[in-house]
Amino acid sequence: MRKLSSGFWLLLGIGVSLLQACASNNPYYNPNKAHHRPEGFVNSDGTTVSKPLSDLMRWYRERFGKSLPPPPGEFMANYDAFPVRPFKASPLESPTQIRASWLSHASVLLEMQGLTVLTDPHFCERAFPVQWAGPARKVKSPTNVANLPHVDVVVISHNHYDHMDEGTLLDLAKKSPKTLFLVPLGVEQTFQSWGINNVQAMDWWDTKSIQGAQFVFVPAYHWSARTLLDRNKTLWGGWVVKHPRLNFFFSGDTGYSQDFKEIGKRFGPFDFSAIAVGAYEPRWFMKAQHINPDEAVQIHQEVRSQKSIGVHWGTFELTDEPLDQPIGDLAKARKKYGLPDSEFQLLEHGQSIILKD
Ligand code: ZN
Ligand code: ZN
Repeated sequence: MRKLSSGFWLLLGIGVSLLQACASNNPYYNPNKAHHRPEGFVNSDGTTVSKPLSDLMRWYRERFGKSLPPPPGEFMANYDAFPVRPFKASPLESPTQIRASWLSHASVLLEMQGLTVLTDPHFCERAFPVQWAGPARKVKSPTNVANLPHVDVVVISHNHYDHMDEGTLLDLAKKSPKTLFLVPLGVEQTFQSWGINNVQAMDWWDTKSIQGAQFVFVPAYHWSARTLLDRNKTLWGGWVVKHPRLNFFFSGDTGYSQDFKEIGKRFGPFDFSAIAVGAYEPRWFMKAQHINPDEAVQIHQEVRSQKSIGVHWGTFELTDEPLDQPIGDLAKARKKYGLPDSEFQLLEHGQSIILKD
């Protein structure tokens, strides 16, 4: 091969550095905030979920030829055995009633008079940039945007595809231009690129008052990315909705961290929480980014939740445990920490529960 001149390599080097410099600019960078970096964001303890490529290769290698995850079988005979209750908007039965519905994966609808909130809506077939590849829904969606009531506020935890689905979000924005989207710092740019402009970006601990409720974006231990080049360029977290009649906590995706004691101290106790309980095996690889049911119960206690439901399970196969494993692991964790079954439960897809009458 002809030897390339040193000038070529110098130019290439400058080009790559310039590209990185362009890509690395965090417009929100505030040196006084511990989780801000000039190029993006880190977790509250200053670290990132960064697995060396060798770990990713090890995970793939260990899975190779094993057809992981195994299909469900211990608690649900197969995927079709997961009960799905079709969800359709219906009026609350009294002006004081508060209703919560699990609409699969991390999507929770909270309805009370004067305020309807939806977390991480995803009702499409796949959690991936294209609808012909990537993790497919194993249990069908109990609803779609047409069947929802008017949603006042959509909160987004982070930009991973199983939490931020372009098709579902566009349907919501089209259905009602009044729906407000609250998103982590940086994520608003993606919304605007889709033509969704009723969006507001929030940093950790930022508060916004809407229709009598305070919406607070709170830390989680996780990471963000939608492409190979945007890792941790936008923020991630969970949400607190503090309404005079209901205090709600949504964990988003997270590993276990000290953040939850702080959230509990600042905003607990919570009447109701939605906490992730799925996508956690193998632990050596997943522990840093996804809690297991045992850690979810610890978080339930640390934020001082009176009642929680498990989310982020039973929908997409993202990791190595079968889709029904959280059922058994959560039961074990409840027993270990002495919780009654009703204090931290799993709902059926599309199931609603009445939180207040
Ligand atoms: Zn995630
Ligand atoms: Zn997720």
